[in-house]
Amino acid sequence: MTFQLPADNRPGEDAPQKGEKDAKAPYYLPSENEIPLFEAAYHARLPVILKGPTGCGKTRFVEYMAHRLGRPLITVACHEDLFASDLIGRYLLLNDETVWMDGPLTRAVRTGAICYLDEIVEARKDTTVVIHPLTDSRRTLHIDKKGESILAHSDFLMVVSYNPGYQSVLKDLKQSTRQRFVSLEFHYPNPENEAAIVSRESGLDSDTALKLVLLAGKIRNIREHGLTEGASTRLLIYAGCLIRRGISIIESCRTAICLPLSDDQRLQETLMDLMNDMFGERDDGPS
Ligand code: ADP
Repeated sequence: MTFQLPADNRPGEDAPQKGEKDAKAPYYLPSENEIPLFEAAYHARLPVILKGPTGCGKTRFVEYMAHRLGRPLITVACHEDLFASDLIGRYLLLNDETVWMDGPLTRAVRTGAICYLDEIVEARKDTTVVIHPLTDSRRTLHIDKKGESILAHSDFLMVVSYNPGYQSVLKDLKQSTRQRFVSLEFHYPNPENEAAIVSRESGLDSDTALKLVLLAGKIRNIREHGLTEGASTRLLIYAGCLIRRGISIIESCRTAICLPLSDDQRLQETLMDLMNDMFGERDDGPS
């Protein structure tokens, strides 16, 4: 049997109070108008898809927005073994008693958190059955195992991310799912912004950070050589962190950028050539 549990609809409940320890906002440098767009979507309670390549700032953006909107954030990294029950919850045996444990999605729905499902297409297909009634006007979560339906807290919002670059026909988002969300498109930040991000996150000087970004730009342009995805902002930050700790620029780029991107020998050589062009034979560490 299904019945409706009244959700606590007091707006703002669970929001971090002024002066609480998480007062520090995550660092996020906007590229375009994604902040007002997300805010408007949130206030209209429109579910949001963040589309874009890996490591370009989607997760950081949602962390920043949750903080800005004063909502808790519950993040779930989706993978091919993620079942709907992992999101909803399950019965557990505790001291000979069967107790129900809410999953992350149920917690978000009850408490009015922002629920971020990272790489949604990786999840099992049965998760869409759960997502659909939550992302239309019903805003309802069905818990079959408990015969319960929960009306989402009025502050709840579903946000998912999706990397169009990875997708095959088999692993694409169905129209019936994608047309329940508004979409924000993410790209790698422009060179000036990306250098500022790399410098800020790794502590690298801005000139070297800019060179890493220029190298990434060249790598991102060689898709036709078989590279499925360009060097992410995240990898540039990793390279910056290694350089800051005294590893040579060439070795840092090889370890943090070239090797993670591909196992293909010829592609590696192309990447190394691009790197040598950028930094020359000279490698005297960070300036
Ligand atoms: P994604 O979720 O798209 O895979 P992330 O949000 O994890 O990528 O981004 C990787 C890292 O890059 C972040 O941890 C952050 O350090 C940095 N980053 C990327 N874009 C930005 C940005 N616009 N502002 C601040 N940091 C950023």
